[in-house]
Amino acid sequence: MEWDFGFVNSLNEYQNGQLQNLLALLNGKVFDFSKEDEFQWVHSVDKIAIFHWQTVQEGVPVKEVLGYRRCLRDITNDKCGWCLAHVESIDHLFLHCSWSYKVWSSLFNWWNVCWILPSNILEFSHDWCDGLGIRAKIFWKLISPATIWTIWMARNELVFNGSYMCWVASVERIKIKLMLVWCMYGYCSQVSLLMDAS
Ligand SMILES: [Zn+2]
Repeated sequence: MEWDFGFVNSLNEYQNGQLQNLLALLNGKVFDFSKEDEFQWVHSVDKIAIFHWQTVQEGVPVKEVLGYRRCLRDITNDKCGWCLAHVESIDHLFLHCSWSYKVWSSLFNWWNVCWILPSNILEFSHDWCDGLGIRAKIFWKLISPATIWTIWMARNELVFNGSYMCWVASVERIKIKLMLVWCMYGYCSQVSLLMDAS
């Protein structure tokens, strides 16, 4: 069996190493296409799920939230580090910034799910996938939290280390991490869907 993950860019050395680990995990795996898919959150995945919940509760310390709490060190520097045009709010950072929007659009296209940009993170988190079918449910339960987490990590790299991560690289990182998690925790039946989606 040959795997096609649909990467649009060539992988760097780190990503290629992770991909090799993934392929080693996949080697020899047998998939049961007759069983219904199941989802569980375990171990490190819990951390991502909790962070997802924190974004909905406005508990993530973006610059706007820090400003409300009077904790922003430089009150004149409340702009998003990617576009420098809007206040870094939770909705802007995770959904509306052009950087994040490209990440979401790429992943939705990859997953072959149509979507409309939600007006806020709350709308995106409550019953978003109702009536949209199994592919949208998988996206909402698994890919969406991982995407929010990766956006936050990329944002922190920029804010604290001045390191800009291209949105394309973030998309590839999300894909590889998801595949690794699913394989390591025995979610291999999910992987078959990726083949259809690529
Ligand atoms: Zn922005």
